[in-house]
Amino acid sequence: MINKNAGKVILVGAGPGDTGLLTLNGKQWLGKAEVVLYDHLVNPDMIRFTQKSAEMIYVGKKEGVASMTQEQINLLLIKKAHEGKLVVRLKGGDPFIFGRGGEEIQAIRKEGIPFVIVPGVTSVTGVAAYAGIPLTHRHLSSTLSIITGSNEKNQDDIHIDWEKISARAGTLVFLMGARKLPLIVEKLMQFGKSPDTPIAVVQWGTTARQKTWTGTLATIVEISKKNMILPPALTIIGEVVNLKSTIEWYESLPLFGKTVVVTRKGDQAESMIHRLQELGAEPYFFPVIETVAPDDWSPLDKALNNLSQYQGLIFTSANGVRAFIERLKAIDQDIRELKGVRVYTIGPKTAEAVQALGIRVDVVPESFVAESLIESMGKENIKGKCFLLPRAMIARETLPEQLRKMGAHVDIAPTYQTILPSQSIEVLEKKLAAGNIDVITFTSSSTVKNFLALTGEKLLPEIKKIKIACIGPITEKTARDAGLNVQIVPPQYTVLSLVDAIENYYQGS
Ligand code: SAH
Repeated sequence: MINKNAGKVILVGAGPGDTGLLTLNGKQWLGKAEVVLYDHLVNPDMIRFTQKSAEMIYVGKKEGVASMTQEQINLLLIKKAHEGKLVVRLKGGDPFIFGRGGEEIQAIRKEGIPFVIVPGVTSVTGVAAYAGIPLTHRHLSSTLSIITGSNEKNQDDIHIDWEKISARAGTLVFLMGARKLPLIVEKLMQFGKSPDTPIAVVQWGTTARQKTWTGTLATIVEISKKNMILPPALTIIGEVVNLKSTIEWYESLPLFGKTVVVTRKGDQAESMIHRLQELGAEPYFFPVIETVAPDDWSPLDKALNNLSQYQGLIFTSANGVRAFIERLKAIDQDIRELKGVRVYTIGPKTAEAVQALGIRVDVVPESFVAESLIESMGKENIKGKCFLLPRAMIARETLPEQLRKMGAHVDIAPTYQTILPSQSIEVLEKKLAAGNIDVITFTSSSTVKNFLALTGEKLLPEIKKIKIACIGPITEKTARDAGLNVQIVPPQYTVLSLVDAIENYYQGS
């Protein structure tokens, strides 16, 4: 089959920060990309949407200085495309709004390289929306000007027609204007804008670091100096700024401003990330567990070939359920062999995974830990009965040990093993150093152990200072034993309760 995407460049707008603002097209291309060139303002969490094998190349600023010239970036795009790669060029906001997207496309076009352009949510509209400022309004503003606050060549002025700009009645939005704020304000007033004109400066919009300062042309420079407002910031000028007090929403969400580390991969992580975003938190995805096949399938194969000998089947995780059914198919066995076998699970997610197969779950314990399942199984007469326990290669032995003590026969069949993924800690390290991590979540003991193994001794002192949220008491114990500062454990041991518990913690209830 010919790969139609070989040697192609996809210019994708990543949106202003919140990963939820990436378009569906952008997400799809990221998922296919072999090479991704990304900028300073792209949320590094976008890596979540890429293949593990994708080559991620940072071409943005390092310590405020461009790491590559525009010419070098163009050449790199061309080189990677010529190697036959599917290249995604990921840019903050929209690539055609002060993003040099046009220049890059011109350069690759000259080489005859095919391309696609995926627009993004520009910070102009995205950040304004998250700040609660509608850029136009029927009664207040019917024009919108998008203006650059930067001029590389002339440090003392910006090449725009101040007279015309100042005469406009509608909304003015300046990008790249944080450092030039005094100049912008001075010029606008000099050319006739009223000193009372409302103005808002929004820094790091749509992220946990979003901050908004409001004032008037007369007062904002003082406010900006006092607060040392640095880029990236969007400056909005006009009567619409006054609407913020009635329209503000994002900054009032219960977890606004909090960055929460999600250490789990897969469906659970997705629902957790979603809920965190809903509550206004910024999730930072740092997966520490990867699920792969067990070293040896033979115990499971043997069990699958003799399913009718069991009276009970116990699942302890959704992963276990999935691997069990995949293997059943792989060895050409039949689910109908499970007729009459009672099915036990710990936790609702596991039960859901079983139900998705069209199998009814007979027992889900009240509390979602092994001890609770043991208790409810203890109420049945399990003496002499055979149970199959498909689960992770390494797991707690409490469940099989206790069931055996009660006289049951338990076969353990490894269905998967978890391994430590290769994972760069660079971004996490930076976030920790900048004080930008509020909570780290752990959903199992192995997430705790793997996280600490990945981050190592070097980051441990920093990690010990961060608030830890654990899904349940077993995970909590592992975290405490490692010296971590566990502050949050939900009453119910599910991922969504964990997020609720984080919300309650910050709401002070
Ligand atoms: N193509 C981008 C703009 C690139 S120029 C877009 O469409 O948004 C970079 C400028 O964009 C920054 O200096 C700042 O003015 C603005 N900007 C980008 N992301 C921002 C954010 N999250 N919060 C505030 N301003 C942002």
